Amino acid sequence: MKPDRSTDFLIIGAGFSGLVIAERLSAAGWKCAVVDRRKHLGGNAYDGIDQAGVLVHHYGPHYFRSNSPRIVAYLSAFTDWHAVSYTIKSHVRGRYWSFPINLNTFEEYLGRPAGSEEFRGWLKQNRIPIQNPKNSEQVIVSQIGRELYELFYEGYTLKQWQRHPCELDASVCGRIPVRTNRDDRYLAESFQALPKHGYTALFETMLNASPGVELHLGVESTEARARWKHKHLIFTGAVDEFYGRRFGDLPYRSLRFEPESFSARELRAREPISGKRGFWQPAMQVNYPGPEVPFTRIVEIKHATGQQVGATTIVREFPKDWKLGDEPFYPIPAPEARTSYLRYSALAATEPAASFIGRLATYQYLNMDQVTGMAIAEADKLISRYRSGLKCIRAYAQWTRRITSRNSEENGLHRKACHGTTLVN
Ligand SMILES: Cc1cc2nc3c(=O)[nH]c(=O)nc-3n(C[C@H](O)[C@H](O)[C@H](O)COP(=O)(O)OP(=O)(O)OC[C@H]3O[C@@H](n4cnc5c(N)ncnc54)[C@H](O)[C@@H]3O)c2cc1C
Repeated sequence: MKPDRSTDFLIIGAGFSGLVIAERLSAAGWKCAVVDRRKHLGGNAYDGIDQAGVLVHHYGPHYFRSNSPRIVAYLSAFTDWHAVSYTIKSHVRGRYWSFPINLNTFEEYLGRPAGSEEFRGWLKQNRIPIQNPKNSEQVIVSQIGRELYELFYEGYTLKQWQRHPCELDASVCGRIPVRTNRDDRYLAESFQALPKHGYTALFETMLNASPGVELHLGVESTEARARWKHKHLIFTGAVDEFYGRRFGDLPYRSLRFEPESFSARELRAREPISGKRGFWQPAMQVNYPGPEVPFTRIVEIKHATGQQVGATTIVREFPKDWKLGDEPFYPIPAPEARTSYLRYSALAATEPAASFIGRLATYQYLNMDQVTGMAIAEADKLISRYRSGLKCIRAYAQWTRRITSRNSEENGLHRKACHGTTLVN
């Protein structure tokens, strides 16, 4: 296929990383074509109203949180926020427990009231001292001991990753807080909120504010790269796919989502369990670490969105091995997977006119705020790189006008000096 269109930046992927970098480059005056093989924008953060009228997250729950005022301020230009205190539960031994582990969980475990001091003493007695824990099992048993680890962490991790926690990086389980007070929030970041009208609305506002951006859905990277003449490529898909899997597939975990909706009338029978009218379960997320069910969690995102609607939708999440054709939802956070990735990242580093950003292109688990930060940083780099190119082009144009009478050797030297910074193809 011959190129029949042209743009400054061709961006593969209309998720957080692709759309944020497009917005930044457009604000600096560049033209961007963003393409995505999916029929919608937003990548894995895509949300929308389902058949029951409930706002749902189509690729698993996306709890926005951040410790960066700069990133929150940036996104706030495109959305208002609905503040959320994300709370979840764990379903163990046939009942709901407060989770992540906190003083309430300890009381549920003892079956009687207790205080923070008693809990701290219990932890001191039960934790297994390990200096510099190296994997997810070590990091948890060194904080809470083996019994609570087996109850809440081991089975969940095995189901989620199909690997024992001792085979996974310490960060996988280590990022879940353990508290001796009654703070039962799932996450620790200072800013926790959802875009008031959803992620899709946020992205639409972002695009409306970006006159230099054109979006093309249902378009594959290979087709776009052949079709658009471009000066620089930004790739946010899987890096092993970009290189034709020449060093083999990188390992991923995939997921299957099973939604189920309930009318307001059907939900009445659930009130004794959910504790609230119009809800199916007592929290936005309930973890199921035990082997008695094949799913890891049930999510009822209406708890978090605050949407006023009688019906609700729950989504059961089933982890599965990734194979070609599945969505590569999670890079595997384990040492040998990262070693395989290094061969691809070494190749990517040699590309003069391509950037690899986002979760799949850099093969790491990144949250939405981190991906936003990465896209802004890469845009800043490209803007200063190509802006100096622009200056170079302008200087070159003035220079050619001035010295048309001079000899061609000098002209050639100037061209050489501009090489590497010019945007002209
Ligand atoms: C189940 C799940 C739950 C999550 N929960 C949270 C959460 O609670 N909080 C949080 O902060 N983060 C969460 N995340 C992470 C969040 O999804 C990512 O940080 C964010 O979506 C990354 O954006 P991205 O643009 O890098 O990638 P993506 O969102 O994956 O977007 C990449 C896009 O590129 C497209 N693409 C890929 N290859 C090609 C190709 N060859 N041709 C054309 N298009 C292509 C894809 O279709 C996709 O739309 C979660 C992720 C998952 C999977």
